[in-house]
This record gives sequence, structure tokens and C-alpha cells, in this order.
Amino acid sequence: PDAITVQELANRMAEKGADLVKSLFKMGMAVTVNQTIDQDTAELLVTEFGHNIKRVSESDIDIQTEADVDAPETLEARPPVVTIMGHVDHGKTSLLDAIRGANVQSGEAGGITQHIGAYQVALKDKSKITFLDTPGHEAFTEMRARGADVTDVVVLVVAADDGLKPQTVEAINHTKAAGVPMIVAINKIDKDGARPQRVREELLQHEIVVEELGGDVQDVEVSALKKTNLDGLLDAIALQAEILELKANPNRAAEGAVVEAKLDKGRGPLATVLVQRGTLKVGDVIVVGAVSGKVRAMIDDHGRQVKEAGPSVPVEVLGLGGVPSAGDTLTVVENEARAREVAAYRQGVMDRKRTTSAPVSLENMFASKA
Ligand code: GDP
Ligand code: MG
Repeated sequence: PDAITVQELANRMAEKGADLVKSLFKMGMAVTVNQTIDQDTAELLVTEFGHNIKRVSESDIDIQTEADVDAPETLEARPPVVTIMGHVDHGKTSLLDAIRGANVQSGEAGGITQHIGAYQVALKDKSKITFLDTPGHEAFTEMRARGADVTDVVVLVVAADDGLKPQTVEAINHTKAAGVPMIVAINKIDKDGARPQRVREELLQHEIVVEELGGDVQDVEVSALKKTNLDGLLDAIALQAEILELKANPNRAAEGAVVEAKLDKGRGPLATVLVQRGTLKVGDVIVVGAVSGKVRAMIDDHGRQVKEAGPSVPVEVLGLGGVPSAGDTLTVVENEARAREVAAYRQGVMDRKRTTSAPVSLENMFASKA
């Protein structure tokens, strides 16, 4: 193809579409992520972001055809997908639990909900936020390295009584490398030794200037323990999401990414899948990584059976022939023969990757155009 959409190029580069748009804007081009750019411009962008292209895999070389890109008029708003990162014991799990607990309907027995690796909360205006319930930098980087760039917003949790710690800095670096916008949640403000201002000042050393200090990174003081200002944090995420203008086409065959997978004694392989575009339906024939199957049932984050799941919705999928890995891509295909074919092809690619690890250069990234 002679042209590529900004988003598609971003995917190839494991960068955020919004960052490419920003770069293009600096070059004097006002385009959205869904618009196409020509090859010269694309190459310019790749050069610009070149230092960040580290782990472009074999399958990432071939640029998708126009047909596989959703037309702008098919796109609809979708909820943001949020990952919580921060130093151990700064309150990531507590915060995820508190947000979820506050959002559990009173009808749900004792607030007991299913853990499926991700959950959604609804805001007062009925808009939603999807949280990946697997806090951890490894999950984030591992999924990214495998091309599953699912996170739209990172919430960096910093304990107000402890300040920045090694894993906080690590999280900052991962987030910067991913080009994902960050919101700082200054947690444990209920504690006597809480010094939120010191946290803000320490962040300056890492070029993070929070709003309170005149910058553009939102900072929110919370207490996961006392459930203080959780709404403030959700509002900050909603605001960030609005700026990102996140969209997907819900009316097409589904594509998604595996967040978690395991083998259940009774139910067989289970994969929590985050749908990224399209709508996943019971009965769909799917390929997940190098595993094929058919969606037998889907369970949502409240433990309810659902028939469909649209963009940014996490569901547990039953009916796979094996256990996939976190970061694997889910694709819906036309029939089971095709599913086996694709699964076998992917297995072949995986086998080859293990034996060849030559870095991808600018030349061969665009080789298909020569
Ligand atoms: P994680 O390692 O980041 O997941 O941290 P946890 O959520 O496991 O929390 C570590 C400890 O900090 C636990 O003992 C929590 O009860 C406590 N903790 C978490 N949030 C708060 C808070 O807002 N205030 C206070 N006082 N303690 C908290
Ligand atoms: Mg934890």
C-alpha cells in the first residue's frame, strides 16, 4: 500500500497514535489517527520515533491493507483502558478493590464479584472505565512487547508517606516509553506522615510536572483505605479519556487481547479477553495466539453470562482448544478450518521467532513497498 493510517503506523511502531498525531502537528500536518499519510511522511515519522523501535516482531513488518482499517464513520466512542502501576505496598491492590467495591451494585450478594483480570466501572453519567485488575509492571511491559498495547491511561500510585521509590521510577519509565498519558494518584493521604507536596516535588526530578505545580499531568489525592476522593480519580481518568477521543468500530468481527489465561479443572482453558474492536459473540470461531476454538460462553466481571462483548469490554472466554498467553491476539475467523490454518501459521511464526532475532531496520520495515 502507498498510504497507511496514523493508527496503523502507530501499531507497527508500538507507539500511541496520539503521539504520532502530535509529531505530525509539529511538522505542520493536522491529521487524526484514522487518516492516512503517504509513505514519505510515514518514513519521516518512523525516523522521528526510531529510537523507540526496539522489538518490532516479524509479523509487525507487513503493513495491513486499507481494507482492514475501520473507516472513520464506523467509529464510536469506547471506554478508556486503565492500568495501575506503582511501588509495592503503595496501595495498587487496595485502590483497585476500593474503586471496584464502590461501584458494586447493592443487589450483588455481599459485593462478591468475580475476578477475571479486568473490570469495568460506570460513572454517574453512565460512561465507563475499564481497569486491568492485574497491577504489575511486568504484565504491562510483557503485553506491550508482544504487541498488545491495550493500556490507554496509566494511574501511577505513590504513597504520600513514602514518596517516590525504585518501582515508582520504573513505572514512570515504562509509561514514558509506551507514550501513554499518566495520572498521579497520591495515596494514603489519611496517614499522619502523609506529605503529598513532597511527592509532587520528587516527580519534578523525572520531568513530571503535575497540575498543582502548573504542569499538565493530573494529580489526585486519595485514600484507598478510607475511600477518600475515589470519584476525583475517576473524574480525572474520564477527563483524560475525553482528550484522547478513544474510538473503535463495534460493528465488525472482533479483535482483542488476552489479559489473563489459565486452565480450569472443570471448565477447561479460560482466557480473559479485552475486546479492542468489533463485537465478540457466543458462537464466534476464534484464533487466540496459536490456539483455535469457538466461543462456547462468555462471563463478564460480575460473573454473569453474556452473549456479546464490544470494544473495551473484558470477558472471560470459554471454548478454547488450549491455554493462550497474556498479550496474545484474539481474531474472529470465518470457520474452524480457517481457524486451524491461522493457528498453525502463528505457531510457525512463533517457532521462527525463537530462532531468528535480527532487529528490524527501516529498510525492511517498508520492504513490501519497494
Ligand atoms: P500494593 O502492593 O501496591 O498492591 O499495595 P496494597 O494495596 O497491598 O497495600 C499495601 C498496604 O497499604 C496494605 O496494608 C494496605 O492496607 C495499606 N494501604 C493501602 N492504601 C492505603 C491508604 O489509603 N491508607 C492507609 N493508611 N493504608 C493504605
Ligand atoms: Mg498488590
